[in-house]
Amino acid sequence: MRDYRIKRPHMKTTKKQIVDWCMKNINECHYPVDASEMHSHCFRCGYQRATEKAHTVPWAKYNYDSKYDSPQYYRLLCSECHPEAPNVMEETHCEWPNHHSIMDKWIIKSAKEFNAHLNYNTYWEHRNKFYELLDKTGQHGFEPTNKATMEWIMDEMLKWKEGLFEDYCKERGL
Ligand SMILES: [Zn+2]
Repeated sequence: MRDYRIKRPHMKTTKKQIVDWCMKNINECHYPVDASEMHSHCFRCGYQRATEKAHTVPWAKYNYDSKYDSPQYYRLLCSECHPEAPNVMEETHCEWPNHHSIMDKWIIKSAKEFNAHLNYNTYWEHRNKFYELLDKTGQHGFEPTNKATMEWIMDEMLKWKEGLFEDYCKERGL
């Protein structure tokens, strides 16, 4: 049988080089990780997890051009976030001052959906709760979830978060 697995060339760029580059060049504002946590946390969900070197460009499409094996073309993502990351090339990629790649735009936007930019280690918990609530709803025909239903989900999310906060305070006698 033919082996369809792609033999990827060795990535010379190290995680340390990626972190060093990102610490210097990424604007932390709205980014889910602080520069000081980039070595230990997933850039997207903000969880303290093992990370993978995620290419900001479709490396295979460029025949593993060694030009892209360079720190600015990587971010560090956990194995859950990595497959969800965009894999597209853009003209202005990594050019100062527009140094945010499409990957960075996705990191910021998708992390914000579940408040990963506010707290570490909450993204997946919030996201799972959201889908748990969404599962309890239906649609009218093929229409997307309507405004009233979405408002119910948001209210329930808020109640749930307030409950978490109360538990947190009780546990600590606050
Ligand atoms: Zn992640």
